[in-house]
Amino acid sequence: MHFVRTTPPRPIDVTAAFPELAPLARTAIRLHPRPGSPSVSDSSVGGPLLWPAAEPWPHCDATHEGTGWSESPAMIRLVRRRLARLHRDPDGPAYTPEEEAIKERIDAGPPQPVESPVPLLPVAQLYLRDIPLLRPPGQADLLQVLWCPHDHDDFPKPATALFWRSAAEVGGILAAPPEPKGADYDGYVPDPCLLAPEEVTEYPNYLDLSQELRELLEDPSRWQALGADLGSLYAGYEDREEYEEHPEAFYNAALGDSPGWKVGGWPPWGRTDPYPRHCAVCEARMVPLLTIASFEWSGSSHGWAPLEEQAAATARSHVAGQSPAQPTHVEVGSADNMQIYVCPASPEHPHTDLIQ
Ligand SMILES: [Zn+2]
Ligand SMILES: [Zn+2]
Repeated sequence: MHFVRTTPPRPIDVTAAFPELAPLARTAIRLHPRPGSPSVSDSSVGGPLLWPAAEPWPHCDATHEGTGWSESPAMIRLVRRRLARLHRDPDGPAYTPEEEAIKERIDAGPPQPVESPVPLLPVAQLYLRDIPLLRPPGQADLLQVLWCPHDHDDFPKPATALFWRSAAEVGGILAAPPEPKGADYDGYVPDPCLLAPEEVTEYPNYLDLSQELRELLEDPSRWQALGADLGSLYAGYEDREEYEEHPEAFYNAALGDSPGWKVGGWPPWGRTDPYPRHCAVCEARMVPLLTIASFEWSGSSHGWAPLEEQAAATARSHVAGQSPAQPTHVEVGSADNMQIYVCPASPEHPHTDLIQ
């Protein structure tokens, strides 16, 4: 760990008002990815993987229609770096010699139709020492998540692949893994980020609660019994008028599941009602492993922005393409989250994912 990010205390202790929620508390580890230069020995998003030189790099064999737009990951990263540089130094050169060299190398653009098979792109690398919530198989202490940065037939989303390995068993490291020639969306190419893992306690998304618990959260008298001045509690929130009538929406924004990249905890819902996912091998009900988030916080959930970044989180504007809430530049669905689920009975049973 190279830096720290701290989730502010929740505005109220939700279990004081709703002791019924206490048994549903779950631990999550917020990853807090922030731009950096991770090495293969770091936990990272979009960073280089500790990948054995002797092991073939994974590829996606699916057929890809393409979305009509395609750009190489190298060009996507170049454009982002250049915009950030020009923001810092508006009078700087249009292209630095280094940028010019990269541009010339990749100017031909990605092939159409999409190459096949497609080398996967690193999305996340998580060491058990940083994320003790992981439950690796056997002696493994490292989780590597990759994806194919194209849409796929069944659903418009990248196809994910998970690898567990023991870091000590990796001898020679693959120095220059192949990279996909194109990506269907800019948001399918994560920017390299270091992590500041932080353990938090979460409660279920409102949609994940039983009808009985939902009704309790909708009951204003339960909230008033807190003795808190609810008006001032809601004051910092965009949707405060809605909260007056629908305190359960405040619960969802500020007290339930945390937004952003995280391991474990309660999944975000919203695109659909929750539905259970069952293991294809043993039919066990699968559990959330990793949330790949488009945004670390939104207007309604800015109260989850770390203390170290509250000023940036509440700022009204930011430079285009440089939202502090989108440090990884990942965007899936329509500013949604990709949830990766695993089987609690065995990490070796196949995982599944969905967009919410
Ligand atoms: Zn694919
Ligand atoms: Zn299973």
